[in-house]
Amino acid sequence: MIHRRPTRKVTLGDAAHGFVSIGGDAPVSVQTMTAGYTHEIDKCIAEIHKLAAAGADIVRVAVPEKKDTAALKEIIPAVKVPIVADVHFHFQRALEAIEAGVHKIRLNPGNINDRAQVKDVIQACKARKLPIRIGVNEGSIVERKDKQKRLKELGGVFSDDKHGHFLAIMITKLEEYLEIFHEEDFHDIVISAKSIDPLLVISAYQEISKRFDYPLHLGVTHAGPKETGTIRSVVPLGHLLASGIGDTVRISYANDSVYEVQDGLELMYILGLRDRIGAELIACPTCGRIQVDLYTLTQDVRKKLAAEIKLPIKVAVMGCIVNGPGEAEGADVAIFAGDRRGIIYVQGEKVANVPEEEILDRLLKECRDFEDKIRRGEAKLGEKKVAILPPDPIGELGSGWEKIEKDKRGTRLPVVK
Ligand code: SF4
Repeated sequence: MIHRRPTRKVTLGDAAHGFVSIGGDAPVSVQTMTAGYTHEIDKCIAEIHKLAAAGADIVRVAVPEKKDTAALKEIIPAVKVPIVADVHFHFQRALEAIEAGVHKIRLNPGNINDRAQVKDVIQACKARKLPIRIGVNEGSIVERKDKQKRLKELGGVFSDDKHGHFLAIMITKLEEYLEIFHEEDFHDIVISAKSIDPLLVISAYQEISKRFDYPLHLGVTHAGPKETGTIRSVVPLGHLLASGIGDTVRISYANDSVYEVQDGLELMYILGLRDRIGAELIACPTCGRIQVDLYTLTQDVRKKLAAEIKLPIKVAVMGCIVNGPGEAEGADVAIFAGDRRGIIYVQGEKVANVPEEEILDRLLKECRDFEDKIRRGEAKLGEKKVAILPPDPIGELGSGWEKIEKDKRGTRLPVVK
């Protein structure tokens, strides 16, 4: 059980888009950002719909130009999820986005730092009760306009303590920026301190969480392609969340943002921070004992479950009898494969023994039937009825117990006890 750090709570949204709270006792929300141009209105609306359907609680859009903030007037009424405007360089874009009905603003102290301009944005948000995220990204905190100041700030980069140097700049800039908000008595604030360096991300959020009680938006900036970005993101975010730090997350990949949402939600599920929606899939990695095409089967099962099952049914796809029976006992619905066949179990009871080409359809049918039984109150998730004890049904598969027993001497197959 994770004990989350107490924070203030901010709320964004409205009746038409739903309300999402960040911090306090609110569940950790998952957000993402559109990849297309905001001024391409129809495409932007379609992308927001797609991300919301994938489970995004909040969607952020970039508004670099006036035509983007103008587009928000048509986009916001057409979508059903709270929208955040990501503002860089031009405080006017923030004011226009607020006027267009956006639900939250993101400001970067690295490029919108004129006190009077920031105060204008704060007052506009205050009037409409909109929260503001202050995002101190490593990549944009170093001074850009004043060359002398920039050289001084960059000086530490060439020292031995680059990490501590950037951390110090991040905290200093954040404190300076927060002063402006405090002068306006504005506290509907969310803070982020992203970096491409996962260790700096951990240190930055740990330090900020000690100093401020504002909710924190976690993220690793420019984490790269999904193949490597997953590890780069999930290591620091998982570490922080497991220690109770973090109130909303955005995983960022150079890929379709749907993956960001899916992985963000999975991170919440496995940490027990959100109730799972949809099936949980367990699958074996396969090894030299495999006698069916388990990779294809697992991918097909994953896609079908995502499309068809809404309740958190635990499904196991196991390649053989070595771990198969144990997992079949723990899962609600399970298949363990043998010699071009698969035996299917529902809560410990064997319901089918089918050839490989029928496994997918039969497994899905059993999942759908089991979901219906739960909805009718005839079954309960996670309830195990019958223990599966070898050697039954392993002999039925032609690759199991009998074969192992027979080959026990002088073979590479393990002796299963
Ligand atoms: S379940 Fe069987 S096939 Fe899959 S990894 Fe374990 S031993 Fe190998």
